[in-house]
Amino acid sequence: MKPRCVIIGSGLGGLSCGVILARNGYDVTLLEQDARIGGCLQCFHRGDAKFETGMHFIGSCNEGEVLWRLLRYLEVLDDLRLSPLDPSGYEVIALGGERFHLAQGREPFIEELASRFPGERDALCRYFNLVERIATTSALQALQRGGDDLAILTEYRMRSINSVLESIIRDPLLRDVLVGNLPLYAAERDRTPFSTHAFITDFYNRSSFRIVGGSDALAESLARTLARYGGRILTHSRAVRIHCDATRARGVETADGTFHTADLVLSTIHPRRTLELVDSERFRPAYRNRINALRNTTAGFSVYLRFRDGAVPYRNNNFYGYTSDSPWDCESYDETSWPKGYLYMHTCHDAHPMWAKCGVVISYMSIDELTPWLDTTVGHRGAEYEAFKRRKAERLLSVVEREFPGLRQQVAAYWTSTPLTYRDYTGTEGGSMYGIVHDVQAGVGSRVSHRTRIPNLLLAGQSINSHGILGVLVGTLTACGDVVGAQTIFNQIDEACHE
Ligand SMILES: Cc1cc2nc3c(=O)[nH]c(=O)nc-3n(C[C@H](O)[C@H](O)[C@H](O)COP(=O)(O)OP(=O)(O)OC[C@H]3O[C@@H](n4cnc5c(N)ncnc54)[C@H](O)[C@@H]3O)c2cc1C
Repeated sequence: MKPRCVIIGSGLGGLSCGVILARNGYDVTLLEQDARIGGCLQCFHRGDAKFETGMHFIGSCNEGEVLWRLLRYLEVLDDLRLSPLDPSGYEVIALGGERFHLAQGREPFIEELASRFPGERDALCRYFNLVERIATTSALQALQRGGDDLAILTEYRMRSINSVLESIIRDPLLRDVLVGNLPLYAAERDRTPFSTHAFITDFYNRSSFRIVGGSDALAESLARTLARYGGRILTHSRAVRIHCDATRARGVETADGTFHTADLVLSTIHPRRTLELVDSERFRPAYRNRINALRNTTAGFSVYLRFRDGAVPYRNNNFYGYTSDSPWDCESYDETSWPKGYLYMHTCHDAHPMWAKCGVVISYMSIDELTPWLDTTVGHRGAEYEAFKRRKAERLLSVVEREFPGLRQQVAAYWTSTPLTYRDYTGTEGGSMYGIVHDVQAGVGSRVSHRTRIPNLLLAGQSINSHGILGVLVGTLTACGDVVGAQTIFNQIDEACHE
């Protein structure tokens, strides 16, 4: 009989773990509390409009690149249609009244910025060399080749982005441009490790794409691979308890009272939520206290736009706007200064869209603003909540209009989501966008291991390694590598990529 594995959560973390373990001989059951699978890969419809809730773009997916290899191994690549972003400026950053483009590839990236900051050409080369060295070490680690330069990764996990940039780049505006897309990882001054910046910069600089039709295509494709290997997904199945005996986890109980026996339990939800499910005394209070004290990344407020037909040309890039001269500290705001920054993107509904049908504007928002509605549930938050959302949306759109005059006339309808929406759909703490914060000031204490003191209870998902498509998949490889052997997985990836 196959060993039984129960996985909690059917986001990217749960689905990818499910595929690898089912492929390697486990009888896999995925438990999902929601009616639909995918977590932050989910999309939603309003009339004929379709919107992504989380993942909007992916990187390093040209043939042979790291994500291409992983998606091929997971047998989803052929199901996905990818639309490349503009190589001359996949990220557009508006700062100090000017627009700056991050161009794809090492030389174009350096040349484009050196044309705007001629005195910084050498510094840009040094910066890019460092980014590549760090990111290559991380990517190689992800594929278990064993980095030959782990010391550099360790060093730059302990140094903040701004401190490293200040040591390389003289011009403060260029330093701000280089972190202009920091909403992608909710970076915080003096806290976020430079390694995170390097990892994400390199990932998207190699190549970047939108998933045509929406990121739910990835969730659906992973679910099909899982089914081919005999795995099953149970929706409307909220895990409420992980049963343990003196030494091991025995199974997972769902809200309807069903007990799912398990030889291995893998939880991909927020670690704090996982600990709530376990009453085993094997977790020391010190461990619980440490996990409970970890900070989470900021939450967000989104305005989902349905444009009038043929009114807005499709933007083949991500646009980052700021109301002050700096991209830092947008998470610290008050009533008058919000929004300090935003990310504006169009969704890609077919392979070569001329016109944008839908778009989204995202800005940071603290759940503290939602205090009056903390005890409410989706669809039952009342008229004042609706008025709050409208007021915020109008304010955000008026700021976006400074860069895109007349935008509101081109919008046929819009909808919004708040930190409460994310809290109630994906179970993240306070609606946090990316889970647990990695903080150089807290050092290794801000990292959560995939292993627990219960040997057959493992953790994966965005709070374990890192968020985003690559961060989550690296966490998946690490956890599954413990179960079936890292070398086995590495060999399988190689085989899949040479077929
Ligand atoms: C606004 C936003 C934009 C983003 N943009 C990008 C991007 O452009 N590119 C990128 O790579 N990444 C992006 N990300 C990050 C990325 O989407 C996430 O890091 C990733 O999808 C997280 O996957 P996960 O499996 O860890 O968690 P989740 O997707 O949160 O999945 C967890 C699942 O567990 C379920 N669950 C929770 N509790 C229980 C329970 N008790 N029982 C059963 N099921 C439970 C939830 O319903 C959910 O389905 C974005 C995220 C956000 C919020």
